Amino acid sequence: MVNAVEPRFLSIRNRIADAAAQAGRKPDDIRLVAVSKNHTVEEMVSVAEFPVDAFGENRVQEAQTKREAWPGVASPEWRLIGHLQKNKARKALELFDAVDSVDSIALAYHLDRIAGEKERVLPILLEVNTSGEASKNGVAPGDLPALVEMVLTRCSSLRLDGLMTIGPLSMEEGPTRRAFESLRKLREAQEERFSVSLKELSMGMSGDFEWAILEGSTMVRVGTALFGPRKTGRSW
Ligand SMILES: *Cc1c(COP(=O)(O)O)cnc(C)c1O
Repeated sequence: MVNAVEPRFLSIRNRIADAAAQAGRKPDDIRLVAVSKNHTVEEMVSVAEFPVDAFGENRVQEAQTKREAWPGVASPEWRLIGHLQKNKARKALELFDAVDSVDSIALAYHLDRIAGEKERVLPILLEVNTSGEASKNGVAPGDLPALVEMVLTRCSSLRLDGLMTIGPLSMEEGPTRRAFESLRKLREAQEERFSVSLKELSMGMSGDFEWAILEGSTMVRVGTALFGPRKTGRSW
C-alpha cells in the first residue's frame, strides 16, 4: 500500500532544505517534530516510517492512550509540547522523553523533584511567550532570566536544552519573524549571561516553519502539513 503521508513528508523535507539553503544552514541541523495531536496511532505509525525525529503531543492523557496502543514497531522520541499542569507532571515523566513547554518556576521545580526521585535527567525547553498574546502560554521574556537561573542552579535533574515559542496568531511575515528573532536573541542573551550553551530553538509550525528556519529554528513542529487536517473531538 502506498503510504499517503509520503508526498507530504517529501514536500516538507524539501521546504526545510530550501529554507536552510536560503539561511546558509545545513538541513540536518533542523529536526522535524511530527505534531500528532488528534491523529490516530495508525497515522503516527505511517509517519514513523520516514523517519521523523520526534512526535510532539499536547496532552498527557492522549499520549498515554496512544503509548499503550503503540504496536511493536520502532518509535521516535515523544516530546510534550502542550501546557503541563503540575498534577500531571508525574505521568508526563513516564510518557515523554522531553518536555518542551516548561513555563514556570513552580513547574520546573516539580519536574526536577520527580525526575530526581526516578534518578533520571529530563531534557527540557523553556516556553517563552514572544508575541505577548494573552491566549498563549509561556514565560514573559522579562521573566526568562529568573527561570533560567533557577533551572541551572537548583534543578540538577533537568537538562536545559533551549527555548520554545509559538508564533503570533496573525501569521503575517513581519510579526512572525520578529517573534522568532526575539526568541533567538533571548537565547543569545541567556547564553552570555549564564555562560551556557542552549542549542535548541523550537519554533515554526505548518504555516510558518520556513520563516522560523530563517530565524534559526533547530526544531520545527509540524502537524497539519504532515498528517493533513486534524479531526476534532477524541478521534485517536
Ligand atoms: C498543534 C501544534 C503545532 C502544529 O501545528 P500545525 O499548524 O498543525 O503544524 C505545533 N506546536 C504546538 C505547540 C501545537 O500545539
